[in-house]
Amino acid sequence: MDKAYNHKIEEKHLYAMWEKNGYFKPKKNPKKKPFTILMPPPNASGKMHTGNVLMIAIEDLLIRWHRMKGDPTLWIPGTDHAGTETQITFEKQLKKQGKSRFQYSREDLYNEIWKFVQDNKGQIEGQMREMGASVDWSRYRFTLDDAVIKTVHTTFDKMVKDDLIYRGNYMVNYCPKCGTTYSDVELKHEERIDPLYYMKYGPFILATVRPETKFGDTAIAVHPTDKRYKKYVGKDIEVEGLNGTFTLKVIADDFVDPKFGTGVVKVTPAHDKNDYEAGLRHNLEVKPVIDLNGKLNEKAGKYAGLSVNDARKKVVLDLEEKGLMEKIDLKYLHTVSLCKAGHAIEPMVLPNWFVKVDAPHKSFKKPAYEAVKKGKIKIFPKWREITYLRWMEEMRDWPISRQNVWGIRIPVWYKVADNLKVRVLFKYNEFNVAGEIGELMQSSKDGAKRIITGDQEKIAGSDGGTKAFTLAEIKQGLQRVFPLVDSSFVVANDSPGDEFIPETDTFDTWFSSGQWPLVTLGYPDADDFKTYYPTSVMETGWEIIRLWVSRMVMFGYYLTDKPPFEYVYLHGMVRAIDGRKMSKSLGNVVNPEDYVEQYGVDALRMGLIAGTANGKDFNFPKDRVIAYKHFGNKIWNMGRFILMMREQSEKEVPSFATVDQKKFTKEDKAVLKELDALIKKVDTELEKFRFADAAEAIYQFMWHTIADKYIEQVKEREDKDIALAVLLHVYMTNLKLLHPFMPFITEAIYQQMPEHGESIMIEPYPTA
Ligand SMILES: [Zn+2]
Repeated sequence: MDKAYNHKIEEKHLYAMWEKNGYFKPKKNPKKKPFTILMPPPNASGKMHTGNVLMIAIEDLLIRWHRMKGDPTLWIPGTDHAGTETQITFEKQLKKQGKSRFQYSREDLYNEIWKFVQDNKGQIEGQMREMGASVDWSRYRFTLDDAVIKTVHTTFDKMVKDDLIYRGNYMVNYCPKCGTTYSDVELKHEERIDPLYYMKYGPFILATVRPETKFGDTAIAVHPTDKRYKKYVGKDIEVEGLNGTFTLKVIADDFVDPKFGTGVVKVTPAHDKNDYEAGLRHNLEVKPVIDLNGKLNEKAGKYAGLSVNDARKKVVLDLEEKGLMEKIDLKYLHTVSLCKAGHAIEPMVLPNWFVKVDAPHKSFKKPAYEAVKKGKIKIFPKWREITYLRWMEEMRDWPISRQNVWGIRIPVWYKVADNLKVRVLFKYNEFNVAGEIGELMQSSKDGAKRIITGDQEKIAGSDGGTKAFTLAEIKQGLQRVFPLVDSSFVVANDSPGDEFIPETDTFDTWFSSGQWPLVTLGYPDADDFKTYYPTSVMETGWEIIRLWVSRMVMFGYYLTDKPPFEYVYLHGMVRAIDGRKMSKSLGNVVNPEDYVEQYGVDALRMGLIAGTANGKDFNFPKDRVIAYKHFGNKIWNMGRFILMMREQSEKEVPSFATVDQKKFTKEDKAVLKELDALIKKVDTELEKFRFADAAEAIYQFMWHTIADKYIEQVKEREDKDIALAVLLHVYMTNLKLLHPFMPFITEAIYQQMPEHGESIMIEPYPTA
């Protein structure tokens, strides 16, 4: 053996050897229950972060342990297309080249992002290998594989037929100047100083930066503990407005900040995100007063047709004139949301696709709730169960459409002749044109209903009016479609005919990743599905128990009537060394690569596992990583010492199995008894997902029982041949126990010890 263990040399070639020998593929054994884990797919174009390493360390530990126990063991790797995140990264790159996504049609943009992801995809896969993940690469899945898309489409079709899908209104970020919607993460936020208007509102004075949306108010809100207004809560009050007098109900809700303005706010569910949420809680009417051109509609009475900015000026003047304006604070600092081009975002309620989660004819969520409540699915640590159950109880209908291009398109088509009022946004030469499709297809003297961005305001038609577009022109540059709540549609993967336009929204990423246990195993017909479903353990970070775990359980029951997994293990978040959340701007991000380079994969994996006691969040355990690096050196030196003693022994050292037990001394019997106890303890702790305790037990035994005590005794022994046989047995048993935790160094040592087999990873796991 070399003097010191060199992780940089050993790790690469050992992984290649394991993979080449096919150890990562399951060995079928009809007598044994399979053990299966599906890897939560990291972002395909991303880089490994400490959370991913922890995930791989835990899953690989479970997988190697079960594989050594002789279970048919399968671990399927995958990567996620990460819709929004990837699109943003890609768009940043476009921006550097002076381009924007609106210069591309949907199809071209999708293809460009596909290329971008392919170029970057190798990195994360390489890192999975580097971390020692013993996954079955032949079953690798990407969330945009054709097979995945097909399953997701089929599920959607079934749900439409089962009447579990509907179109309803949902709050989105809309830019009236661009004529399109943006997802939350696409927005820019900017601090601005604007006037804050204090208006008289019945018996109240209330503060707002948006007096022009008052025509859409459907309640007045105060904080539940605000004594000043307690007597009004639940009452209808009369308000004198600019279009006459009206009544509004006063509600009490936590979202009101008693310190903002006077502690009273108007609630406009149609044009404010917080108000929309409050509206859902209090069943308030949603009353839109701004149209898709950014102008006030007929509900604003005499202000109809004015742009938001013009309307605000006019409303303020009229309120002042009528004596309804108490005061104006001109220096109010607040945050506004902007689109990529820097226009002000108008929160709007627009039609969206929804899943009915608890319909009277069929409940999508109830079986998923009961599975955990009745213990058919067990969550570790157990105290996380309450998070799951509460979420399932409170779950409302699930909005599943997103405005990203990079994702799985919702397989829906609209017949144009039946849907002339549907608005579209499309690219035409250097222009972006938005408007109702029926209107766009006719030449018009009045182009006002169209929004055209580009160098000129109008695209002239042959008759001197605005241009009439053909459906082909619209479809060719199509970017977004805005169907109405009641637009008629057909579900189909491919276009049902030339007279149809496609839905442009893509599925919420959780709609497809919620079917991960099904798509990875080839539901409904593949052998893998029949053999490995339901899977054994879903191991993931606790922060996605609602977003992801609950969705997988719902889809699992909906499509197969079975839970997708037996156990859920939720690991904690890895914080920075300083205890704060890792963030680029704080400069405290721990880069796993640095630790791999310096201390090796085994030490990094073991350090993280030791840190994750009971699934709680923890600070990156740098000290433990270093401690386990020392531990690696220690067990390497123990191996060298055993080999040296054997060489120096005068008598040939027998194999442990052939030694007559009567020859064991008191010390031998004691260490073998302790070894049995250790094996049992490791087994019990692993069964209960207490990885840190199992790791600690092996560490203590190897360091203190073997190195500090037993080896010292062996040095003094007369019958060295017997003592060395016992020592080698105890040491090798510990290497096997340790292998799932520290796969590389245990294999590197194993390969140099006497009587070794092909690989430690296919040795049977020690039993007491
Ligand atoms: Zn814009």
